[in-house]
Amino acid sequence: MPELPEVEEVRRTLEPVVIGAVVVRVRLVRRDYLTPPRAPLVRLRGRTIVATHRYGKKLFCRCDDGQTLMFHLGMSGRLESFPSHLPLPPHTHFIIDLNSGLQIRMRDPRRFGGVWYYPSFEKACAEEIQGVLGVDALHLTAAHFNHWSTAHGRLKARLLGQRDVAGLGNIYVDEALWLCGLSPLTLVRRLSPQHIEQLVKAIHLVLKKSLSAGGTTLRDYRNAAGQPGGFAASLQVYGRGGRPCFRCGDNLKMLVVAGRTTVYCRHCQKSR
Ligand SMILES: [Zn+2]
Repeated sequence: MPELPEVEEVRRTLEPVVIGAVVVRVRLVRRDYLTPPRAPLVRLRGRTIVATHRYGKKLFCRCDDGQTLMFHLGMSGRLESFPSHLPLPPHTHFIIDLNSGLQIRMRDPRRFGGVWYYPSFEKACAEEIQGVLGVDALHLTAAHFNHWSTAHGRLKARLLGQRDVAGLGNIYVDEALWLCGLSPLTLVRRLSPQHIEQLVKAIHLVLKKSLSAGGTTLRDYRNAAGQPGGFAASLQVYGRGGRPCFRCGDNLKMLVVAGRTTVYCRHCQKSR
C-alpha cells in the first residue's frame, strides 16, 4: 500500500504535468469510485489546475476557483499521465483530459482507493485533514507525542492509526521501529522522552531515505510517470520475517499487530 513517500513521489511527478493545465473533460468510469457519486464534475471543465498538495497518504489537486479533487491510492491505485491517444488499460476508473493532450488516469484493480470531490480547498481540508489526521509525518516532532504519557495502546497500532501522525503504514512503521530499537508491542505510555526522540529521528530517517529513492515498489506502486521506486532493496525488516536480523543475526519474528503482519527482532527491539 502506498505510504507517505510513494504518495509524495506521485505528487512530485504529477505536478509538472498538471500545474497550469486546463481541464478539458473529466470522466468517471465507475460511479462507485467517486465520493459523492453525483459530484458536479462538469464544473471542472475549463478550470486551470494551480496546485497539488499531499497530507499523510492523501493527494489533492486544486483548481483556480478552489474546486479540489482528493485522491487516495488505497492498495493498488495508480495515478499516471498518458498521451490521450493511448488505449485505456483495464481498471481505469477516473480520467482527466488536459488541454496539453495528456490524460491523468486513475487505475485501481483492487478498488480500495478512490476520488473525492470538494467545491473548495477549505472544505477538502476540513473534511479530510482537520480532526481526522495527526501531524503529517514529515513535520513530526517529539512534542506531537506529549499526550502519549497518559495514552492507551501499543506503539505500532498508534502509529498506524493516522490520528497521532499521518502518512505511515506497515512498511515504514516496521522499518522505523527496528531502526530505533523499540518493540511494536510497547505500551506508548511507557516510552521515555529519550525513546520518543529516537523514534522521531528514526521515522524521519526512514522517510527521507525512501523519498530520495522514489519510494518502495513491492508490486503495484508506480509514480505518475510510470516508474517504480527503488527503496525495496534497502528494507531492513519489512518482508524479511524468519530471516536473520541485519544487526544481531537472530531470526526476525513475525506476528500480527493491529491486523497487520509485523516483522521485528526480539533481541534488538525490546518491549518497554
Ligand atoms: Zn536483531
